[in-house]
Amino acid sequence: MSQAASDAPHSRYKSLLLFGAPGVGKGTQGEVLGKLPGFHHCSTGDMFRQLDKTSELGKLCASFGAKGQLVPDEVTIRVWEEGMRFRISAGLYSPARDLLILDGLPRTVAQVAMIEKHVDVQKVIHLTCSNPEEMVRRLKLRAIKSGRVDDAKEEVIRKRWEVYQAETQPVLNCYARGLIADVEGIDTPVNVLANILAVVRPLYDAHTAR
Ligand code: ADP
Repeated sequence: MSQAASDAPHSRYKSLLLFGAPGVGKGTQGEVLGKLPGFHHCSTGDMFRQLDKTSELGKLCASFGAKGQLVPDEVTIRVWEEGMRFRISAGLYSPARDLLILDGLPRTVAQVAMIEKHVDVQKVIHLTCSNPEEMVRRLKLRAIKSGRVDDAKEEVIRKRWEVYQAETQPVLNCYARGLIADVEGIDTPVNVLANILAVVRPLYDAHTAR
């Protein structure tokens, strides 16, 4: 059993899930929230991109990303558990102090069960998308700005969209309706942030008042 798993009964991470299609703004909003004391942002996509690209694991994860496919569940959870253990031991994230903002996890129904022993879901912030073409435009812009290979080709973007609908959207059915807050993602970043904060604020107040 990993260290994170053996610690789990004492310290399930109080978490907000940032959920939504590629390009809907999970990363943008997660990074901003994660800058505030009392929050910790964790993007599984970033974790994969930060792996050593010359290692077998780094190459494996990059190969799935480049095709617009998900990294297999076992590998995803292993990388995530390892990353969380590092963040805790380095003092970057404290489960007692911080609300964890999980961006991009869980992305399959199997992952919901696999993270349950670690994660206490306080809210699922579902960033919705009233205009898929706007998301394709955003991803292409991100490709230019950040050099992400998985954003550069329209066929890969379309593949990620299909994978999202087939494999990730069903994750929503795993959580009680009352736990899910829909926030329209196709709006100005400031408006999206304001709407997310309206959902998060009572949870943050309750967490910090303990
Ligand atoms: P986006 O949300 O825009 O697709 P991310 O940066 O969150 O981008 O993810 C990039 C890639 O990393 C995904 O296309 C996928 O290959 C991989 N990935 C991220 N999170 C997961 C996950 N929970 N399970 C499997 N693969 C993942």
